[in-house]
Amino acid sequence: MGPASRDPEMLRKLLLAGADAFRVNMSHGDHATHAETIAAIRAIEKEYHRPIAILCDLQGPKLRVGAFRDGQAVIRHGSHFTLDRDPEPGDETRVCLPHPELFGLLDKGQRLLINDGKIRLRVIRASDTAILCSVEVGGVISDRKGVNVPDAEVPIPALTDKDRRDLAFAVAHGADVIALSFVQRADDLAEARRLMGGHGSLCAKIEKPQAVERLGEILELADSVMVARGDLGVELNPEEVPPLQKQIVNAARTLGKPVIVATQMLESMIESPAPTRAEVSDVANAVYDGADAVMLSAETAAGAWPEEAVTIMHRIASQVERDPGYKARIHFLETLPDPTTADALSHASMTIAANMPTITAIVVFTCSGSTARRVARERPGVPMLVLTPSTATARRMALLWGAHAVTTRDIGSFEEMIAKGKRMALRHGFGDAGSKLVMLAGVPFGTPGSTNLLHIVTLLGTELKR
Ligand code: PGA
Ligand code: MN
Repeated sequence: MGPASRDPEMLRKLLLAGADAFRVNMSHGDHATHAETIAAIRAIEKEYHRPIAILCDLQGPKLRVGAFRDGQAVIRHGSHFTLDRDPEPGDETRVCLPHPELFGLLDKGQRLLINDGKIRLRVIRASDTAILCSVEVGGVISDRKGVNVPDAEVPIPALTDKDRRDLAFAVAHGADVIALSFVQRADDLAEARRLMGGHGSLCAKIEKPQAVERLGEILELADSVMVARGDLGVELNPEEVPPLQKQIVNAARTLGKPVIVATQMLESMIESPAPTRAEVSDVANAVYDGADAVMLSAETAAGAWPEEAVTIMHRIASQVERDPGYKARIHFLETLPDPTTADALSHASMTIAANMPTITAIVVFTCSGSTARRVARERPGVPMLVLTPSTATARRMALLWGAHAVTTRDIGSFEEMIAKGKRMALRHGFGDAGSKLVMLAGVPFGTPGSTNLLHIVTLLGTELKR
């Protein structure tokens, strides 16, 4: 979300074009604006009866330049550019760097990369008040663009004071997912988890080499992850990102945790109504990799074609999922079930769907969403209809592969389960006369974590009339 998309009319268009989740980026804008955006999303959610996930993305210890007099400036190759502590708006010769930690830390010859590495500066001289740089690669630099310093270790804690305020805001405004930027170790997540006090789920953004090294322990503590390719490709070499994307997607899926692939997916659509062929391939390949979600950033936050970008992304994902080769590709990864009842049944539901072409959906009755996640990790060949009494669970399902969630009252009996499963499948277009459904539920009904029942039903022609 951003200025190009937060207007309710545009929000409605994006939802109808295929968006399931919306990111509120705490790196930009103020709390009043974010509160309005969140209220607008919830209003649309109500209007369309469609659970939506709101992801509040905390800036983390991301370094950013200050503001410019004209909102931006053109920095020329071969010229000098100074980063200083003067809060006055910048121009083509200087800008404020509002991070005291960096002054006195950087040395001659070290690199400063701005705006996802598009602008490259090298330090000529650094004092306690100013860092003079030569411009090795110039370009347009605008307000609050990100700065990476790959050659120095920056002593900033994982959650800044701003992040703590933003986290409290996100919790107070009912964010479904809170994303943590520049995670370096599992402890960073533990701290955020404590501050969240049981509200929302926690997404770890993988954008530091340190996080890649400790992927296992980070995934263990996170509820979901984001392959944050923008910063990852600056902190590491860009060519290291594609293999890492595959590695992170596989690792997350093995654990049944949603994984988002993000950044520069349809970058040229910030200005152009049509994407490049390479961008289309990139989005398609993220889906082929097995990603749960693909994300747009500036394309919809500040671009000229937000609706077109979502529409095209949706079309690309749908096309991949229609490709018969897609199934074989995503099953390249062997997801061995844990020796639990829920996993055995999740795995069985996938096998049953594969063996019976008349199965059109797996209907999952769940409180916490955990059974739905175990089914999704198997990437069955049919969609999942997730029926849950919990609004929070239904919203979180928006990030999960293949899940369509509906909030509905809990079932109290076997007969009710069958009737409701059939009724919802028909109402939401998951079956027709003659098609079969796999149902997964837990007895006693209404007990979280009790999944132990798999039942197959056939939709009859007479039921269609209801
Ligand atoms: P950002 O994170 O958009 O908040 O920077 C994503 C990324 O770095 O790719
Ligand atoms: Mn980032």
